[in-house]
Order: sequence, then C-alpha cells, then structure tokens
Amino acid sequence: MDFNYSPQDEAFRNDLRTWLEANKRHAPAPRNMMAEESDDDWKDRVGWHKKLNEGGWVAVNWPKEYGGRGATVMQRLIYREELQRLNLNEPFIGMGISLLGPTLMHWGNDEQKRRYLPSILKGEEIWCQGYSEPGAGSDLASLQTRAVADGDDFVVNGQKVWTSMAQHADMIFLLVRTDPAAPKHKGISYLLVDMHSPGVTVRPLVQITGGRGFNEVFFEDVRVPKKNLVGQLNNGWQVAITTLMFERGGGGGEGVMGEVTELAELARRVRRNGGNAWDDPGVRQKIAEFASDAMALKYTGYRQLTRQLKGLPPGPEGSMMKLCNTELALRIALYAMELLGPYSQLEYGADFAIDKGKWSLRMLAARGPTIYAGTNQIQHNIIGERVLGLPKG
Ligand SMILES: Cc1cc2nc3c(=O)[nH]c(=O)nc-3n(C[C@H](O)[C@H](O)[C@H](O)COP(=O)(O)OP(=O)(O)OC[C@H]3O[C@@H](n4cnc5c(N)ncnc54)[C@H](O)[C@@H]3O)c2cc1C
Repeated sequence: MDFNYSPQDEAFRNDLRTWLEANKRHAPAPRNMMAEESDDDWKDRVGWHKKLNEGGWVAVNWPKEYGGRGATVMQRLIYREELQRLNLNEPFIGMGISLLGPTLMHWGNDEQKRRYLPSILKGEEIWCQGYSEPGAGSDLASLQTRAVADGDDFVVNGQKVWTSMAQHADMIFLLVRTDPAAPKHKGISYLLVDMHSPGVTVRPLVQITGGRGFNEVFFEDVRVPKKNLVGQLNNGWQVAITTLMFERGGGGGEGVMGEVTELAELARRVRRNGGNAWDDPGVRQKIAEFASDAMALKYTGYRQLTRQLKGLPPGPEGSMMKLCNTELALRIALYAMELLGPYSQLEYGADFAIDKGKWSLRMLAARGPTIYAGTNQIQHNIIGERVLGLPKG
C-alpha cells in the first residue's frame, strides 16, 4: 500500500478541515451512542447531518451526479480521520446514505433515483431496513412477509423484527415474498414502503442496554404502489444482496485501538492488590495482547483498502475484519469488567459508577455487532468455505 496522499487528497483534507473548524460548533456533544437516546439527541443528530449536507460533506463517496463528491477510497479514509481528530461523529440517521442510496444507484430506475436520493442527502426522509423476520435471520431467504398484486398496488401483510430506527423512519426498504410457489430465493421482491401508510405498526423492543434502538414492524393490508418496486418482480434477492454488500463493506476496523488506549488508561486508575491494576504485569500483558490484535486488524484493513484502490472486488478480508473486529471489541469490554471488579455491577449512569458506567454499557452492547450484518458464525462459514476451501457445512 502506498501511504502517500496525492495533491487531490491533500486538497480534500484541507477543504474538509477548514469547513469542520468553522462549523464544528453545530455538532452534537459526544454521547454514548449505545445509551438511551432522547428526542432532543435525535434532533441534534439530524441537525448535524443537515449542516454537513449544506457544506457538501454528507455521502462524500456518492458520485457527483447524485450529489456526492465522488470521493476515492483514500478520501473516505481521510473523511473519517478528520472527524475523529475533532472527536466528531459521522451522523448516522438511518440506512439511507449507507445502504439504500447506493443500492438505488445500481438498481433503481430514473424516477426512483430522482424521487429518493435528494431527500436522503438532505436528511428529510429517514430510512430503515426491513429484512429480518421472527423466522428469517441468518436464513433470510425464508422470509414470509407477503405482497400480493392488486391493481396498481401491492398489498403487504407480515412482520419484520430488529428493525433499527423504525421509530424515526419515514420509509422502509422491505423484502417481501411475491411468488410463494418459486424456490425461496426466486420469489422475493424489494419494495420501498411509506412507514406512514395505514396498516403499519411499529412496536419498540427494549434492549439489554435499556435502549430502544430497534423494533418490531407489523404490516396489515398495507397498499404499496407498484412503482415502488426496485428491480424486477421476484428478482429482489439480487437487489437485497447488493444492499448487504454495502452493509458488510461498512464494517471497518477503525476505532478498536482507541478502546485499547481507554482500557490502559482505566487500568492506571483502578485499584488492585494495594496498587493500580497497571502495576500488575499480567494486566499489562493482556492489554499489550489487545494492542497487538488491534494493530494487526488495522493493517488487515489497509490490505482491504489496497484491493479497493486497485479496483478489485472486496476480498475475504471483509469477513475477517467483521469477525475479528467485533470479537476483539467484546473481549476488551469483558476484560474491563474484570478490571472494575465489583464496580462492574453498577449500571450506566449509576451513582459511584466509574466513568459513569460506560464500561458495563459497552459490555452489554458489544454482542450486537457480533450478530448484525451476518452473525460471526456465518462469517466463520464464509471464511471456511471461500478462504480455506472447506466443504459446505
Ligand atoms: C443491533 C442489531 C441491529 C439490527 N438491525 C436490523 C435492521 O435494521 N434490520 C433488519 O432487518 N435486521 C436487523 N438486525 C437483525 C440481524 O440481521 C439478525 O439478528 C441476524 O441476521 C441474525 O438473525 P437471527 O437473529 O434471526 O438469528 P438466527 O439466524 O436465528 O441465528 C441464531 C444463532 O444460530 C447461528 N446460526 C444460524 N445459522 C447458522 C449456520 N448456517 N451456521 C452456523 N451458525 C448458524 C447464528 O450465528 C446465531 O448464533 C439487527 C440485529 C442487531 C443485533
């Protein structure tokens, strides 16, 4: 990998840095993303998205014709670095920018692109992802939500689950079964559904962290115009896979080193056997092990980036990154509990909790990433079959 930046990359960095310095006051204060979110937190997040969009700093990797900057992979990395440098978050207000927008660019017709892409950029319509069902997660193609043609509409009945941000969403991209007689991958279609339609009910699911980030969504005789079909009827599986590709591609390797640094800093503060935990060589050894793993992940991430810069399709690094990254984060979170001893039992925000209880919240939240975008067991299967050439399980 070439670690040098081109003059265009440097210009991109300078423009962004100048804009961020001038506008960072509009960014919401850093908050624990896993904690319960108030209505004001959400409004601040949407407001920051809109501000960034005014400067043309949302969806920088989208092509210019769709309102992006056509940023290269390297510039995308610079974008993250510059936000991190100021401890700012890339606003995440649903699945429009990262998942639906790029999918529509591939599969949407002109009218769909014109209708939906600008409102995603402007943060005017919030999107959620309607894939998982009570009986269809890893085996997604078993989904049962039905859409039946009726005049100019489809009529949708069924249930989705684990739908992140459905409580805020205006729209959902929905996988439905349109041909129950066809083999399961062949009878699926991809619809764009207005969440404000009659017959849509959203019920929050309270997570172990106390947050209400995801939901059950019920569809009862919901009418969806046929023009909201993306791609061909019964060919939705291909469209769905495109979306999944963007979802898995998004699971990067950044950030874990920051958690190791925080853990080392915690070890210097918590008491153990009459001194600080850091005085114990066993503790330092463990933290060094996490740091080595995080460095290895960082360079594996660069290898993935190199493939992308050379225009090669995503390699098996994507699954390895997703697997190792999420498991390392989980191991770090669990080890923090060991360091905290009895203090680990205090909840987020409790009196006397060290660091306001962020470690126990992180520990509870750290399982989620091992599940979404394809569980880690599924990633093991992919690595076994496609990297090691093992027979299908
Ligand atoms: C934080 C979070 C956010 C999410 N957001 C969304 C969202 O916005 N929209 C959406 O549609 N979904 C969302 N999901 C759902 C997610 O996609 C599913 O949870 C995931 O695909 C797993 O499906 P499942 O929960 O039905 O588990 P199952 O598929 O029932 O799996 C249960 C267990 O069996 C294992 N298993 C299953 N099949 C195999 C196999 N072939 N080989 C080995 N082991 C296997 C799994 O690894 C898992 O441990 C979210 C999930 C989480 C945790």
